[in-house]
Amino acid sequence: MKTLSLIVPCYNEEAIISESYRRMKAVVNALPERWSAEIIYINDGSTDATRRILNEIAAVDGQVKVLHFSRNFGHQPAVSAGIHQCRSDFAVILDADLQDPPEVIPALIDLQEHENANSVYCVRRLRMGESRFKLVSAKLFYRTMNAMSEVRFPLDTGDFRLIDRKIMNEFNRLSERGKYIRGLISWVGFKQVPFFYERKSRFAGETKYPLGKMIAFASKALLYFSKKPLKMAMSLGFIAVFLGFFLLIWFTLGKIYGFSRAESGWTSLITTIIFFGGVQLITVGVLGQYIGTLFDEIKARPEYIVDERVNCEEEKN
Ligand code: UDP
Ligand code: MG
Repeated sequence: MKTLSLIVPCYNEEAIISESYRRMKAVVNALPERWSAEIIYINDGSTDATRRILNEIAAVDGQVKVLHFSRNFGHQPAVSAGIHQCRSDFAVILDADLQDPPEVIPALIDLQEHENANSVYCVRRLRMGESRFKLVSAKLFYRTMNAMSEVRFPLDTGDFRLIDRKIMNEFNRLSERGKYIRGLISWVGFKQVPFFYERKSRFAGETKYPLGKMIAFASKALLYFSKKPLKMAMSLGFIAVFLGFFLLIWFTLGKIYGFSRAESGWTSLITTIIFFGGVQLITVGVLGQYIGTLFDEIKARPEYIVDERVNCEEEKN
């Protein structure tokens, strides 16, 4: 018997939870005999009826586990909690809003068995019902991340994937608090194979990833997986110094040989001051970001706080 957990983070998803559960349950029920599956919902501090609906589902279906967070901690901590809670041989991470169609799970399992892979990650061949801005920014994000990071990431791949016990065990050993999960799973290694799918539009409700959260997510990915911004800040410093030297020599020679009329250069002076002021602020800002990240890690606060567990054996976080 093989065991499977679906890990589903939910934040204010009252409009879709019931339908989402119905579709996932249908997929789970249709799995071959040798599989036994459960669904782990992580209620990430929802303020709507999500909590009540999840409790109702868990009351009638013992194969549904629910973790209620004490407040909204974010999508990544929610997925992380799901992986920590999972005791199965395999897990599939997927969004509650049915953008990651649960119907592809059997195909993921087949591919895993066929390739004997430790992870099957789902690559978005098409994304439906997303704004132009989201499409372009996401494409740009995955490519920038690859250019900036020391780790290779698969392009256009979210957290939707199947992972096995080996990967989960390694994941559970990672002690960093700010987890960029898709990055960490790539970083862990083992045999990981792609599966191409069409990302659907949201079943109902609105995105819980407004621009602010998207920017925070992207900068976390960058700060945790790349030291290049620091190197770029230093390069910027070198370029500025080099430029400064060049100008110094140019104007000195200009004075001597009379090809420069530097006295009249108010514009050049003010632009140079502003330019180098900017370079310095950017550099300090980049440094500040890393120090802030260090500060957060040193405080070592838990990634999330669980208020209540339903149908779960009591566990450490
Ligand atoms: N989510 C969460 N906590 C948050 C934001 C989102 O658990 O703070 C969940 C959300 O309920 C959904 C998944 O993460 O199941 C992806 O969020 P969403 O669909 O809003 O993001 P998008 O698909 O628009 O990028
Ligand atoms: Mg979504």
